[in-house]
Amino acid sequence: MSVVVAERLRPRVASQRVERIAMLTVHTSPVATLGSRDAGGLNVHVRELARQFDAIGVDVDIFTRRSDPVTPEIQHISPRARVVTIDAGPPAEVFKDDIFCYLPEFSSEVALFSLRDGVRYDIIHSHYWLSGWAAHLLRRYWNVPVVHTFHTLAHLKNAVAGSSRPESVMRLQVERRLVDIVDTVIAPNPDERAELVWRLGGNNANICTIPPGIDLDLFTPRDAHVARRKLGLPERPLVLFVGRIDAVKGIDTLLDAFAALVRTYAPEESPLLVFVGGSLADNGNGFGDDLQPVVTRAEELGIRDNVLFRGSAPQELLPDYYAAATVGAVPSRYESFGLVAVEAMACGLPVVASRAGGLKFTVDDEVSGLLVHPSDPKALADGLRRIIDNPGLRASMQVGARQTAIRFSWQAIAPAMLNLYERLVEGERGDLCCLGEIYAS
Ligand code: UDP
Repeated sequence: MSVVVAERLRPRVASQRVERIAMLTVHTSPVATLGSRDAGGLNVHVRELARQFDAIGVDVDIFTRRSDPVTPEIQHISPRARVVTIDAGPPAEVFKDDIFCYLPEFSSEVALFSLRDGVRYDIIHSHYWLSGWAAHLLRRYWNVPVVHTFHTLAHLKNAVAGSSRPESVMRLQVERRLVDIVDTVIAPNPDERAELVWRLGGNNANICTIPPGIDLDLFTPRDAHVARRKLGLPERPLVLFVGRIDAVKGIDTLLDAFAALVRTYAPEESPLLVFVGGSLADNGNGFGDDLQPVVTRAEELGIRDNVLFRGSAPQELLPDYYAAATVGAVPSRYESFGLVAVEAMACGLPVVASRAGGLKFTVDDEVSGLLVHPSDPKALADGLRRIIDNPGLRASMQVGARQTAIRFSWQAIAPAMLNLYERLVEGERGDLCCLGEIYAS
């Protein structure tokens, strides 16, 4: 990383100008169970960003919509970071697009909370399109800058949707509008920045490239044999998938690729696919509605005995999975960033990932893993086989993987975000920062 960037990213102890941040994540809570249908990278990012700000002396309140009657109004995720659950609409799960009509109620309830609690915020950081609109509505009550992160863009998801349900016209329209009305949009990588400018008509000067960070203390290499014993995994080649059950994750491609891969080995040497994500039922003896179609497809392909379905796992257990595996598979059709790939690499696990979205920037082809064409089972199977069958290549990639991942240390990224907030609070606008250098270093 260049000296100029290192200087810009130098950690600071506390901020005089930004004392309290309001984060909005209306449709999902940062404390939701990860790996379920809608809880993944966004939730992790918001939670970790808040904890990082706490560590440098900044208070954070994360506002989310109540989706059950029992969650307490306030939950601390660290001493200075709280999740505040706001009543808006029914206290039940609501289809995402339908949340839109509750956003006026949500924003006025957030404003009332701040009055009742006697706090004021220096900045709003909204996550996902619904929260971006809620942030826009909140400006009626608070005159503070708004930073917005989309996490996924509807037109990019639709471009790879295939037969699955496309994102709504309403979402497309709101996303287009948001790039004009918030003060700064955060793009996780240079490609998404370009999309925001060229396709959504955003002003280049109002878009900052700041990737999410990774907890490099949690995601760190450890002994593979110990990890396998702990997880009850055999001493066989293990291909690891971690993620939500979502069409964009390319699980169909993975199963087809894995079926082709298994056929090339003698049965006693054939690899196992360890599948982490989705829900188990009946105390682990059955599968939830999201996972069952994946299991059925594995049966159809004749590979059911070679796939271990573990259901979603708490994040604290993932470093063991990453350590235990021989190679990680990230076959997504679209990833805005793709935390799993970087977490795996941080644990020294080479990955075979699609050359798609953020993965193009995070995976260093032939150094920390392999990039293959998305939706191409043969290319994925070939990539997995190359790493499984070639211990020398794998050993060098294990080193390359960790080196590639440490660029995404929170120590670099949280201060960059705080610096952006401070400059916005001071009234600066336009061309405030660009961390594209993180990708180039
Ligand atoms: N994750 C987890 N347990 C699981 C599956 C996923 O903790 O069973 C976490 C994983 O560690 C990562 C996040 O969920 O931090 C998924 O983020 P990613 O960017 O890879 O995918 P997204 O969910 O944003 O599509």
